[in-house]
Amino acid sequence: MSDWFDETLHEDMALRLKADRVLYDSKTAHQRMVLFQNALFGRVLMLDGVVQTTEGDEFIYHEMLTHVPILAHGRVRRVLIIGGGDGGMLEEVLKHAAVESVTLVEIDPQVIAFSKQYLGKICGKAFDDERTRVVIADGVDYVAACEDRYDLIITDSTDPIGPGEVLFTKRYYTACKSCLAPGGVLVTQNGVPFLQGEELRGTLRILRQNFADASCYLATVPTYAGGPMAFGWASDDTALRRTPLDVLETRHAAAEIATRYYNPRVHQGAFALPGYIAELIGISA
Ligand code: SAM
Repeated sequence: MSDWFDETLHEDMALRLKADRVLYDSKTAHQRMVLFQNALFGRVLMLDGVVQTTEGDEFIYHEMLTHVPILAHGRVRRVLIIGGGDGGMLEEVLKHAAVESVTLVEIDPQVIAFSKQYLGKICGKAFDDERTRVVIADGVDYVAACEDRYDLIITDSTDPIGPGEVLFTKRYYTACKSCLAPGGVLVTQNGVPFLQGEELRGTLRILRQNFADASCYLATVPTYAGGPMAFGWASDDTALRRTPLDVLETRHAAAEIATRYYNPRVHQGAFALPGYIAELIGISA
């Protein structure tokens, strides 16, 4: 017999996924963790009633939060991931041979242990890579105390409810800025603007106060329903967001990475914002 899971993220709209088999359902110290099998998406991970990742469409989200900043920057060696306990982001970053170290800061150790056991299709062997360092901590405390400098920081957080809420605050973004090496990039998970517009507007307001260049880019991820989702972008290098197509093509070819969503044209197009999103964040489209 199959059950249905209704996502509880939005007040007036819900994503509904069929669970052919519930593989896990338990509470950690931080959140309720559910894993089930869906015929279309494969294994689906939910935390506190919100879809985090699925075997079927994770590649879109993970490719766009990694290859866009890494290939735009061109010299990323040190990466910091905040959240990301499922390991999908880590696995994607590590595909870049030029990356020397990746620090992943996750608040909930059970998500990592669980993902190694159940989500091998998503994290692969990323947690065993010698370039990986895992820190169990609240991301906001880590960046506030951190003296290291990173070329790229990726916020791979839950939505701004529960433990993820602090990762959308001025304290967090300001501390991220001081953890970036000169010309470094911060990219963030910023939800679906049609449904979570205030979240994106709030993030961009703070990023603009702290960085010479701040905007967002888009990708459509089926299980983050309600329109394209937005990724925040912030850097003091104003040229990075406009890296020319031929440069992206050369870097993408040199990186020798097989991608299923990312390509240099999609990269450039992702920064073109529809009018309602440009208006939301207060820029001209
Ligand atoms: N792709 C996902 C999405 O957009 O829904 C995010 C996936 S990843 C599983 C999110 C992770 O962020 C979770 O494992 C959660 O435990 C972690 N997290 C939430 N708040 C955090 C915080 N304050 N510091 C570090 N990690 C946090």
